[in-house]
Amino acid sequence: MAANRRRPPTVEGPKPRKPRKGDKQGPADESDKKTELRKRGLILCIIALPVLVGFYATLLWWSNPHTDGRELRIDQYITLLRQGRIQSATILESDNRIAGRYDRGAYWVAVAAGRETIFSRLTSALEDAGVAYKVKQQPLKNLIVPASLILPALIVVDGLFILFLLFGRGGMGDAFAFGKSKARRLATGESKITFADVAGVDEAIEELAEVRDYLGSPDKFLAMGAAVPKGILLTGPPGCGKTLLARALAGESNVPFFSMSGSDFVEIFVGVGAARIRDFFQVAKEAAPCICFIDELDAVGRGRTAMAVGGQDEREATLNQLLVEMDGFESGSGVVVLAATNRPDILDTALLRPGRFDRRVGVERPDVRGREAILKIHSRGKPMAPDVDLTAVAKRTVGFTGADLANVVNEGALLAARRGSPQVEGRQLFEAIERVVAGPEKRSRILSPQDRHRIAYHEAGHAIASTSLPGADKVGKLSIVARGHAGGFTWLVPEGDQAAVTRSQLIDRIAAMLGGRASEEIVTGEASSGAQADLEHAGTLARRMVSDFGMSEKLGPYIVKPLSPGYQGEWGVGYSERISSMVDSEVQTILSEAYERCKSALTLNRALLDRVAQTLMEVEALEGDALDELMLAVQSLPDLVGAGPSSASSNSSQAGN
Ligand code: ADP
Ligand code: MG
Ligand code: ZN
Repeated sequence: MAANRRRPPTVEGPKPRKPRKGDKQGPADESDKKTELRKRGLILCIIALPVLVGFYATLLWWSNPHTDGRELRIDQYITLLRQGRIQSATILESDNRIAGRYDRGAYWVAVAAGRETIFSRLTSALEDAGVAYKVKQQPLKNLIVPASLILPALIVVDGLFILFLLFGRGGMGDAFAFGKSKARRLATGESKITFADVAGVDEAIEELAEVRDYLGSPDKFLAMGAAVPKGILLTGPPGCGKTLLARALAGESNVPFFSMSGSDFVEIFVGVGAARIRDFFQVAKEAAPCICFIDELDAVGRGRTAMAVGGQDEREATLNQLLVEMDGFESGSGVVVLAATNRPDILDTALLRPGRFDRRVGVERPDVRGREAILKIHSRGKPMAPDVDLTAVAKRTVGFTGADLANVVNEGALLAARRGSPQVEGRQLFEAIERVVAGPEKRSRILSPQDRHRIAYHEAGHAIASTSLPGADKVGKLSIVARGHAGGFTWLVPEGDQAAVTRSQLIDRIAAMLGGRASEEIVTGEASSGAQADLEHAGTLARRMVSDFGMSEKLGPYIVKPLSPGYQGEWGVGYSERISSMVDSEVQTILSEAYERCKSALTLNRALLDRVAQTLMEVEALEGDALDELMLAVQSLPDLVGAGPSSASSNSSQAGN
């Protein structure tokens, strides 16, 4: 997807700039040269390796003495001498041999090195026999010992060089450069991604387009006296396209783009992170105008804590350096710092002060139009059947992020390929949505009749509760085929994008989540472990109602949150035990209110519950018209708010709502 090069050239740290005539060479040119040099060095080293090995092998072979003929023992030799059968003799100095000819051809005798007595006995025997002999010096062979030490060493060194050049960061020189920023520089035009590849986040695109225009012709903006922000923070849930937007900006603008991830600054050695930040900004300033992108800023930008324990020191030093650097350049300097995070709440407040990341751009989940546009982008280049209705897919995928939608299209294409169809069809896309929501179906899992019965009632309970409760989402599909970890699956489809939800809607949603468990309890008389995930979701939502939305009776419009984020960090809570236990009891109150409401919805529709469960056991999955027809018979419970006191059968505490 990304224009990934396997090993990006690293940007060199600050160097005294040599004055050059005429041409302005940025760090990029230098690093290009470096890469070129490295490549050549690598080729050289690779060629050298077989040559050296060849030399060494030849040496080993040559260092053996090479004498023809028959090998004679010393005693045989002396006997032959006495018999006068030896014709000639040459003493080979380094080989420690005597070679020559005798009456049957060539011969050689091994003479122990350094044994003077053997030599003198043999020479006197030769003299006695009257054989002329000579000594052959072998000066080259004296080189064997040093060469046999040097050559293997050279081979090892060459091998190490190759390893360094292949895998060492920035070559030999940088292998130990801890403080270097590792910043990845995208050459202009390297990123093929443009704003056209991002959809559903128009405001963010607008904001970034402004940055691109400013960096393209800063004079125009400066003439107007307009100050372009020097720090822009992209915030939003994961998968909504923050990193993608940054890459698109890199593709759109004609200035250098440096990118780093916040975690690259995090090191265990104190001071290294700070040095990397310094280096990063130094490089950027030299390359101005340019864009610096720090992804996952929260890794460095976390709030500082009062207690410094372990790695805290280092993180704090890194953060401080970041703050200093961001103050260090003027807004007209042409360096724009772009950062992304999905946890703006834990960022240090100092980072968000004007003059640093003074502009915050939300990259949120796309609405229905945005979703359709994103689906269109991702279905480019995939063969789509004419029946594919992306608008319908967009309507069904409320709450999906861009990454989820990309996943849907991809899963759809995979399904189409697996089924052997030449094009991606509409129903494959819908199946892909379910897979993304709940994981693939596990048709192979065999259920016992009791499990089947229980799961059918569980899912029917969800369906009837959510249809009967006015505030809950609508049912899109029911199935008792196992998926992922779940035994069955009820797909609740929100009716549309909603900006805010009311308390009664939330209660109904929680009630629908509990519908499975309530139904099991009504029918079988006891609870099962199958509802665990439902309970978890319901509990989380109820807790948010109390502590995030201020929707509880006892606490009222009070948001329960740790004090200022970053002040006490992970350790302090910032609220008292009393509040904490009140939250717990209020969560329980909400849950039981919802549970009661769910139970009354199910008892009201008891006959239908049986029918839906029966049908489900027969056909395994229900959706579309068949489902709608069954659900027509559902009797709705009155709205929680509009109902007035008469219908508040189980709970009278909501009167003040
Ligand atoms: P984030 O950085 O916000 O967590 P990413 O930018 O990494 O999310 O998005 C992951 C992938 O999801 C992208 O590579 C892209 O394929 C897809 N995606 C996310 N948001 C969008 C969008 N708004 N438009 C098009 N594709 C998107
Ligand atoms: Mg990201
Ligand atoms: Zn359930």
